Amino acid sequence: MVTENLKIVEDKIANACARANRERREVTLIAVSKTKPVEMIQEAMNSEITIFGENKVQELVKKQEILPKNLKWHMIGHLQRNKVKQLVGKVERIHSVDSIRLAEQIQNDYEKQGEIANILIEVNIAKEESKFGLMPEETEEVIRKIAVFPNIRVKGLMTIAPFVENPEDNRLHFRNLRKLLVDINAKNIDNINMHELSMGMTGDYEVAIEEGATFVRVGTGIFGNRIYM
Ligand SMILES: *Cc1c(COP(=O)(O)O)cnc(C)c1O
Repeated sequence: MVTENLKIVEDKIANACARANRERREVTLIAVSKTKPVEMIQEAMNSEITIFGENKVQELVKKQEILPKNLKWHMIGHLQRNKVKQLVGKVERIHSVDSIRLAEQIQNDYEKQGEIANILIEVNIAKEESKFGLMPEETEEVIRKIAVFPNIRVKGLMTIAPFVENPEDNRLHFRNLRKLLVDINAKNIDNINMHELSMGMTGDYEVAIEEGATFVRVGTGIFGNRIYM
């Protein structure tokens, strides 16, 4: 199932890139393996997938210990400060930094181990009440403060768009996230030159690619529905 699904996802990514006049290599697929067993990850590995996204620190670390070392792991879920030290040196990106307090914790824990954290700032671009993430208006101010942390590199912005039936309904949100990135880059803040946009999930990644996504986070579309117990 995973192999077939990945073919479909890969086709859709390639087509979305073509429609947007973008190169396929500008977009990185993150296979979101949360709640799924290592056997399914191994099946994805057989289709040349090497980047996996998880939303729980413990699950990420456990899977990483079992699986080959060439895989790259991305922390995409809400991150509690007391869990940061377990992530140091283990993830290629933390997608979900949404406060200065969390960034301070990352700075301290990474500094202790002499590591650099590559992070994305999570923005609640549609201003949904129930969502994590910074409001668009406060994002620049928070980035200015995080910019001075020596062990953190701010690589870009991330958003979880609203759950919608029609992916077109999220197009404006994706466009707005890209605009926010361009606008903040234009302020020429020291140490801030962002190139990454993590946006688009199973329901809307094609629209996200058309609007400039560089990371798409696809779970269900690759591994099937998740069962939570
Ligand atoms: C679960 C999750 C995804 C993947 O969602 P799908 O709709 O299954 O593709 C993407 N991003 C984040 C932050 C997630 O928690």
